[in-house]
Amino acid sequence: MAKIPVGVLGATGMVGQQYLALLANHPWFEVRYAAASPRSAGKSYAGAVAGRWNASAGLPDPAVWDLIVEDANDVARAGAAARRGELAFVFSALEMGKDEIRALEEGYAAEGIPVVSNASAHRWTPDVPMLIAEVNPDHTGIIEAQRGARGWDRGFIVVKPNCSIQSYVTPLWALLQAGYEVRRVIVSTLQAVSGAGYPGVASLDVIDNVVPYIAGEEEKSEEEPLKILGTLAGGKIENYEALRISAHCNRVPVSDGHLACVSLEFGARKPSLDEVKRIWRDFRALPQDLGLPMAPEQCIIVREEPDRPQPRKDRDAGKAMAVSVGRIRPCTVFDLRFAGLSHNTVRGAAGGGILNAELLKAKGFLG
Ligand code: NAP
Repeated sequence: MAKIPVGVLGATGMVGQQYLALLANHPWFEVRYAAASPRSAGKSYAGAVAGRWNASAGLPDPAVWDLIVEDANDVARAGAAARRGELAFVFSALEMGKDEIRALEEGYAAEGIPVVSNASAHRWTPDVPMLIAEVNPDHTGIIEAQRGARGWDRGFIVVKPNCSIQSYVTPLWALLQAGYEVRRVIVSTLQAVSGAGYPGVASLDVIDNVVPYIAGEEEKSEEEPLKILGTLAGGKIENYEALRISAHCNRVPVSDGHLACVSLEFGARKPSLDEVKRIWRDFRALPQDLGLPMAPEQCIIVREEPDRPQPRKDRDAGKAMAVSVGRIRPCTVFDLRFAGLSHNTVRGAAGGGILNAELLKAKGFLG
């Protein structure tokens, strides 16, 4: 079967590089279009990333090094490639002003090119689904309404959430699915430097240090889960309003892997610790049932050691797509405490985007 030709916008950045590395030898998708800023446009991909290749996921398909980088702002050029059958959809990993990204992504969709985005620009657009493939695959149901409202025939936009929330939203969803209401959550995140892109945080600011501030991150960590856990009803996504989250986000001198320390309060029914572990161990979702290539076999990995999960030891679990949880114990203020870990540039960015695209392909949205 011929592979589907895909593009990566922001292909030279931290997340873009992970896309290219993860898509090498992908069974369905093949990178044929790499775009970035005008600073990189016109260079070979190898030339554009020389001296700043940082993808922990490996190296791209050798043919990608020779691709000439396009200007991501040149939507018409991408549209022409799409009409020649050389570009079926794009992953967006752009870092620009939100208004600029919003307009650009809409431009690609209007050209008939579906956009699977990592950027935050469209996360709160009401008819754009914010997907974690294991949690809310049904939110893809809003795509037809999105196309209809905007007059797009083939194009559409889906986004994935902020990289900090993957480590606790899937465990919370598994508990909700099992019938346990979760009312309040306090989460402290310890976030890796790769989450800030390249070159990101200055070494003098973060070595031998912890920075207890990441601009905009606490709001995203508190609010995005409510849309993801929401219900698609009457052509609208209704936020899950029964839950309140308070987040403290910290930047720590770790290369990859965001750790979240969570305290949560259940509703009237409270599971035992053994029941919580059983729910997390048994949790499976649509990506596992469909056997999607990027899906981890075990979605949530329960660690029993007293000092796990740890970023360096656990971030690559399940193709760097699993959430590792541990330190599961009673909370002296709420009901339950645990630590959750996920790889921010794989599960939290490029890998999560690829899994979303696989889900869309399996559901027939990508032709
Ligand atoms: P990054 O390393 O700074 O890369 C940014 C990319 O955007 C580069 O390819 C850059 O091209 C391109 N770009 C910058 N200005 C542009 C312009 N004016 N026109 C066109 N392209 C432009 O950022 P990143 O960490 O990969 O993040 C990319 C996106 O993913 C962001 O929206 C971020 O919020 C989101 N995200 C990141 C993570 C993470 O863990 N890092 C996780 C989830 C989501 P040049 O190389 O040519 O400058």
